[in-house]
Amino acid sequence: MEIFGGMNLRLYNTLTRRLEPFRPLHHGRVTLYTCGPTVWNYAHIGNFRTFLFEDLLRRYLEHQGIEVFHVMNLTDVDDRTIGAAQGAGLSLSEHTAPFITAFFEDCQYLRIRPAHVYPRATECVDSMIDLVTTLMDAGLAYRGEDGSVYFAVAGFEDYGRLSQVERRELKAGGRVSSDEYAKEDARDFALWKAASEVDEAVGAAWDAPFGRGRPGWHLECSAIALSQIRARYGIETLDIHAGGVDLIFPHHENEIAQSEGATGQTFSRFWLHGEFLTIGGTKMSKRFGNTLTARDLREENVDAGAVRYLCYSTHYRQRLNFMDDALDSAREGVERLGEFRRRLEAAAEDAPAGDASCPSAAIDLEAAFQAALDDDLNAPQAVAAVFSFVRKANRELDAGKWDGVAAGRALGVFDGVIGVLDLLPASVEVTDEVRQWVERRVADREAARAARDYGAADVIRAELAGRGVELEDRPEGTRWRLRGD
Ligand code: AMP
Ligand code: ZN
Repeated sequence: MEIFGGMNLRLYNTLTRRLEPFRPLHHGRVTLYTCGPTVWNYAHIGNFRTFLFEDLLRRYLEHQGIEVFHVMNLTDVDDRTIGAAQGAGLSLSEHTAPFITAFFEDCQYLRIRPAHVYPRATECVDSMIDLVTTLMDAGLAYRGEDGSVYFAVAGFEDYGRLSQVERRELKAGGRVSSDEYAKEDARDFALWKAASEVDEAVGAAWDAPFGRGRPGWHLECSAIALSQIRARYGIETLDIHAGGVDLIFPHHENEIAQSEGATGQTFSRFWLHGEFLTIGGTKMSKRFGNTLTARDLREENVDAGAVRYLCYSTHYRQRLNFMDDALDSAREGVERLGEFRRRLEAAAEDAPAGDASCPSAAIDLEAAFQAALDDDLNAPQAVAAVFSFVRKANRELDAGKWDGVAAGRALGVFDGVIGVLDLLPASVEVTDEVRQWVERRVADREAARAARDYGAADVIRAELAGRGVELEDRPEGTRWRLRGD
């Protein structure tokens, strides 16, 4: 669906600190890796601001006819998940399971287009062990006296390029903890952590040639991203890697060191980072006790369109300060668009075919929308463009000059990417082919549930949700319907 012809997208690349024209490595197809949630608790709307910025990127690329292969990991083993499982007296997998399910429910609620795969760190330990082995063979990793394996930063010349953190600062900023004594250099970081008693107790320890232990968080993303794109396309370079700004250092810096140290190839051509959602100027974070979860909003029946609208009213590279009335005004904005849509539908029905229409204004809106998003995903500008269109359209409709059809189409183009009205699923036609596909996926999900593979079942539910299919599990089996039906 190449609606607008050639691609003019420019994205701000953290690697170069510049806006750059974006071209995929291979024509028509993009590999996208986004760091997923740490499933130790419910994700908050700060996390979802980042996931929604990534959803905008994904939808806009797909809107231009690009085939996106989107990988999002689930961090189900790290210090936080282990600590939380221990605190709850549960095994790691028992503790994380409900948060994984909640994450998929939240994504579905917020109309986030599902990634193609959601590898869980605990299911990819083999590829992590392989990566550590490669790095040890290359002389870029060593086993410390504490039994953990560290990455030798001194051996990787490019270290610090992404975050532009000076060597001096890195040293001065290095925290002094017990592992400081096991490391050769304060900048070195753990790839593999020797198993502790707690790790063993919660089931977070694996055998490896270099000792029993568990992966470090940074290692997880490198191993998962590389194994996914190797398996799918036989490549070791991503087009885009994204996350929140807090991941630039050390997480993404370390991901680059591990991946490029092992492959000798550029790990990702573009690095995109979304700014924080703050409350009273402070980052929303469980640590600061100032969180609001997507689940809270869902349970309060807050319109997901309003949450999306709120997030897209500020550019992703600017901080968004969440205020009490912010959701109310977002809701008003969505309501105005909803009223306009109803008016267009009525106008389209009333008008005799071939009567007055508004092609030029609709084309103007599509062009303004595209220009805004091409400019480093400037969603607030795209939203402004739609409202100036609404004002103009309302005047013309008052004067009986438009029939609403072309205007409705332009609004549909806007909403296919921004997703505040959720117009898309309503337009899905249930052909036999669609029905067969949905039924096949529902059956796959039932088989996964029967095999107690709830992760696979969740992924299928999310995949179906992304295409507007809602499921309802009943004692007699799973029923499905298209959202909006
Ligand atoms: P985590 O679950 O902590 O691994 O984080 C998941 C994603 O949420 C990462 O991309 C983080 O950068 C992002 N994130 C965490 N806190 C915020 C926040 N307050 N605002 C925006 N993004 C955030
Ligand atoms: Zn990551």
